[in-house]
This record gives sequence, structure tokens and C-alpha cells, in this order.
Amino acid sequence: MTWCANTRRSLSPLLMLTACVVWGTGTLIYAEDASIKSAPGTRSGNVRCPDVSQVTLSGRLAPRYQGNIRYLKHIYDRETKGKDWMLSPFRNRESNKIWTGEYAWTGKYVWVGEYPWVGEYQWAGEYAGKWLDAASLVAADTGDKGLAQRVSAFAAAFRGTQESDGYLGIEGPTGKGKANWDVWNMWYAMTGLLTHADCFENPESLRAAVRCAEWLVNQFDPVSESNKRFFRGAFDGGCNVDVIDQFVRLYRATQDRRFLDFAISVVRHYPPIQKARETGKAPLVHPYVLFAYLGGVVELATENEREEDLAWVERVWEDLVERHLYPTGSLGYNESLRKSASNDHPAIRGKPKPEGCHQETCATVEWLLLNARLYRATGKVRYIQKMEHAIYNALLAAQSADGMKWMYYTPLRYEKRWFSGETNCCYWSGPRGIARLPRWVYALDGEGIRVNLYESSEATLRLDGHVVTIK
Ligand SMILES: [Zn+2]
Repeated sequence: MTWCANTRRSLSPLLMLTACVVWGTGTLIYAEDASIKSAPGTRSGNVRCPDVSQVTLSGRLAPRYQGNIRYLKHIYDRETKGKDWMLSPFRNRESNKIWTGEYAWTGKYVWVGEYPWVGEYQWAGEYAGKWLDAASLVAADTGDKGLAQRVSAFAAAFRGTQESDGYLGIEGPTGKGKANWDVWNMWYAMTGLLTHADCFENPESLRAAVRCAEWLVNQFDPVSESNKRFFRGAFDGGCNVDVIDQFVRLYRATQDRRFLDFAISVVRHYPPIQKARETGKAPLVHPYVLFAYLGGVVELATENEREEDLAWVERVWEDLVERHLYPTGSLGYNESLRKSASNDHPAIRGKPKPEGCHQETCATVEWLLLNARLYRATGKVRYIQKMEHAIYNALLAAQSADGMKWMYYTPLRYEKRWFSGETNCCYWSGPRGIARLPRWVYALDGEGIRVNLYESSEATLRLDGHVVTIK
């Protein structure tokens, strides 16, 4: 039996008992065929990820996934050998230099203080949560004992840096609750802890994430039009707004209504979200930050069964695809959205940022996460199509073949240079995308199994109590 990639492929439960699906050759990989349409009858929350411990990749994604395991171990081992990038910012809050700034969405940055934490950045708190997120997923999905030991030790050490009031950012007393990236760092702490809690059913990591959220609620609630302190974070406050997805996740885990109400309040009072809702246009801002808070709105809409919120995010998605998508399936130039997708150009003498400042790896990964959320929420094939496109052409292009190097920007043309610069975000973002690949190859819905990605693979999936093997 042969199906085209990206079409909906459902097998009847009867057939599934004995089905062994073999792909034909010559199948379209990046199907942009107008005849391939979203399946009818899909409904919210219909698509889910199967048990990926039973999915084995053997195509071109396989060596990249294996390389990512090596890389995640390498980053951790580097930590324990003195080059401590991930936990140092949390362990040395008092000695971090102060980085506080005022930001108003109509105004401009006024930086106060010096550069923080010598050789590092004010978002240095994100690395720990990002690593814990990626490593927890991979350790749980593969059963790799070496990685699982590292994850367990790291999660405990990370939780050990949480202050008695629940704070898990990197600021000293003067920057706590004020610094531009403080909420952002807490966001990633919650992300890593909640993934660890999910993957290993770890109540301590869940508790630590709850305490992070309580600290944020205590700091900022109520978030309202008249109380804009919450929106003074970096990138028009978008860095703070990004935290909403973890509040929804925490609500699902605890059923504590405070967390859901906080997320609702943030969405209701954040003007860029309200404007995007009215216009259906993507604001020309930092794409990574934008995709993260749009993803949070999707999570919130799903939880609240607010189809109308899903609908406007889908309109913004259409605008992004129409105006901003590169042929590689990723977006953004120089960490921003322009009026349209920028052409690549050769080096310009004297310019600090020459050619190739396209598709920051962080933006590529967050674009994938947004599409994955929309796919889960709507069941529409167009989202997984865009994911397949970006995975093979942008995500894999940003990772070296052995998995040990990453691009910051990946040029569309011209020379590709592995990243060795000052900012470190993408080193930790890329692995989060690769870590999810086995979870994206197949999906289950109310009617059967979907094969999402054109990838040689084998899966043993459970459906309606039956075991189905797919090759
Ligand atoms: Zn980045």
C-alpha cells in the first residue's frame, strides 16, 4: 500500500490488526499539491502523539537524532568539567551584575547598570530549562540510561538553586522581578521542570514549577491595562507573555485555577495580541518570541474551548506563511520579521552583521512548536506539512551532520559558518527541535494512525487495544 506523504492516512481498526504499511518509491516528500487537503471531520484535540518509545527512526532523521543524544551528553559533561554555563547563573545570583531596564511598549529601552554576569547574557537562565526539556524527552523516549542519569542529577541540582520564596531566575535582589529577562528565565525553568515532571512522573520537579508560578503570580497579579509592569520585559514585553503556555500546562497538571486565570489575564491585556486578533496580521517583531506567545494562546484556547481564539491565530499563521516564509520553511531576518521574507545578500563591508542573518535556529524551533500545537488543536494537515518542510530544510540545515555543532543564523545562500559567537540561545534551542522528531513522525486521531513525516521508520502502536506494527 502506498500513500503520499502528508495526506491523512487512516486505517480501519480491522485492517490495522494485520497492517504492515510499506512506502512506495517516488512518493512526494514536500507535498504542496493543491489536491492534498485537510481531512474532513477533524476536531479540536483530536490528534495526539503515540507512545514514542515504540518508534524507531531509520531514515535521514536517525543519525541527527543520535547526534543530538551525543550533544546533550556533551553539554552536560562540559558543565561538570568546569565550563558551567547552565547552573552558574543561578548559583551566583549575588555576583551577577545588575541588569535592569525600563521598557514601555511605546517607548524605548533605557538600560540601567552594566552587562551582567561576565561573558554571559541576561537571558543566561534559559539554558538550564532548555537542556532539561530536550534531555528529559530524549532520555524518556530512548531509555538511554546514561542520559537519564544526567537528567536526574541535573534536575535535582537545578531545583536546589530555587530560593525559599520560589524564585528560580538569575537576578540578585535588585533585579528580581524587574530585570527585562527575569520572567523569560523563569519561563524556561518552568518549561524544563514540567517536561521532566511529565517524562519521569517526578513530583519534585512539578512542585518546583508550581512554586515558580506562584512566585510570578505574587509578583505581577493582577495583570491589567493599568498595571503594565508585567509587560515591561524585553521585546515589547513579549518575553514575559511567553510564559503563558507553561501556566496552561501547570493548570492541566494541578487543576489550580489561579494559573489559568493568570494566563487569561495576560492575553486579555497584552495590546500586541489584541491587535493581532483584530487584524489577523503578524506584528513585525521578534519571530521566536511571537511564535511562543501565539503557541500559548493556542494552548489556552484549547483548554478553554475558545474556537474563536484558535481562529484568529490561524489567520495570523496564514499571514506568516504568505508573507514571511522562506523556501526552506523558516522565518525571520536578523531576529525580526520584515515586511516580507528578506532576500539573502553578500557581505557588506563594515557592517557588523553581514550576510546570512536568516532563520535564527530559535525561531525555526519555535515555529515548529507553534505548528505542532496548531496541528494537535485542529487536526489540519497544513500544519504538519509546514513542519515537515521546515524540519528537512531549515532545522537539519542548522545542525551539523554529527549533531555536535549548530548554526545561529542559517543563510539561504553563501557560506555556512558554524556558530561560535557570543549569544548562546540557539545551542540550546536546536536540540529541543531534534528531540521531538520521533514524536512528530506519527500521530493518532479518532479514526486511526496518521503518518506525518516521510521518514524510514518502524512503529509499534496501540490502537483500541490492538497492537499495530508499521514499517
Ligand atoms: Zn537563538
